[in-house]
Amino acid sequence: MKVPFLDLKAQYAALKSEIDEAIEEVIATCSFIGGEVYDRFRENFRQYIGAKHAVMVGNGTDALEIAIKSLELDAGSEIIVPANSFIASSEAVTTAGHKVVFCDIDDDTFNIDVSKIESLITAKTKAIMAVHLYGQPCDTRALKSICEKHDLFLIEDCAQAHGAQMSGKNVGTIGDIATFSFYPGKNLGAYGDGGAIVTDNDKLATFCQMYANHGRIEKYNHEFEGVNSRLDTLQCAVLDVKLRYLPEWNEKRRAVAERYYKAFRDLSWMRCQAQLEDTLGVFHLFAVRVKDRDSFINHLKDSNIQPGIHYPIGLPFLKAYEHLSAKAEDFPITHAHQNEIVSLPIFPEMSDEMVSYVIRTVQEFKHS
Ligand SMILES: *Cc1c(COP(=O)(O)O)cnc(C)c1O
Repeated sequence: MKVPFLDLKAQYAALKSEIDEAIEEVIATCSFIGGEVYDRFRENFRQYIGAKHAVMVGNGTDALEIAIKSLELDAGSEIIVPANSFIASSEAVTTAGHKVVFCDIDDDTFNIDVSKIESLITAKTKAIMAVHLYGQPCDTRALKSICEKHDLFLIEDCAQAHGAQMSGKNVGTIGDIATFSFYPGKNLGAYGDGGAIVTDNDKLATFCQMYANHGRIEKYNHEFEGVNSRLDTLQCAVLDVKLRYLPEWNEKRRAVAERYYKAFRDLSWMRCQAQLEDTLGVFHLFAVRVKDRDSFINHLKDSNIQPGIHYPIGLPFLKAYEHLSAKAEDFPITHAHQNEIVSLPIFPEMSDEMVSYVIRTVQEFKHS
């Protein structure tokens, strides 16, 4: 049996007629930027997340940069970012004109270690970025109280967590402003790039809406210089069809995850990402830690199972952040994690047989 890491072709095959029709409708009207389909998706996504405003942008990285800009912080402000994420999380801090301060991750949740944040706060700290990595809500409750105590903004990077919940609330509605990515492989993926910003704050929403569209609300009335970062209508058409299936897909991912958790619970050599109490993860990825990673990955590949590594180099240790001179002992968990982390296949179209096959193959691994 062959188990791919993700199967976008199977997803398209299941929705072909609906997606083709939605795309054809946009082409027939030649309404490629804005228009009814754009408005409809924006409204449906806003309602799904449960935020007051949603702004559609070109991709998840722009979403972060624009969201940070909307906070109008003094240039060079410090923003605390988890040391394990995709580079976009920290990159956006820099491109928005601020300084990245990395925080180590938690050994069990693989998300930001909340207990290490307060020692990083200085007079220049103005925000914390919460990343719900792999689709697991990070400890946003604790982050929120730290933000309230120190008067900081809370930005949520929900690129991997569409529909994930904490205490019955969707992630993206807990902080001051939140961002999503519609990169094709994400839980809600476009047929190209796409992203969104959500917030309950009218002022932040207006700024984001205008900044992403040349600083304007009306056609040629530019109130300030912005950028062109729009979500095009063809992507909205695809996303609006897929959004209807997202709850069901997230449910299927959770069902796969449940089977993995149960089957791997007794493996002494493997640790799965821990879930915080009162949260509902959406398992964009199913991340586990294995000491003997190279042999484990070879074992999976020899059995035609495609694993992934997210991410092989912790952010502080990337060449891009060489200037910060991060040492392994500054980020001990992130450092250990980068050498042990493996992502197992998880996607809604995965058959029960595929899941059983992955479980069996993992259980057969002879850990040294
Ligand atoms: C994918 C991703 C982004 C960036 O989204 P793009 O749409 O690819 O620009 C940001 N943060 C995280 C955690 C991501 O996984």
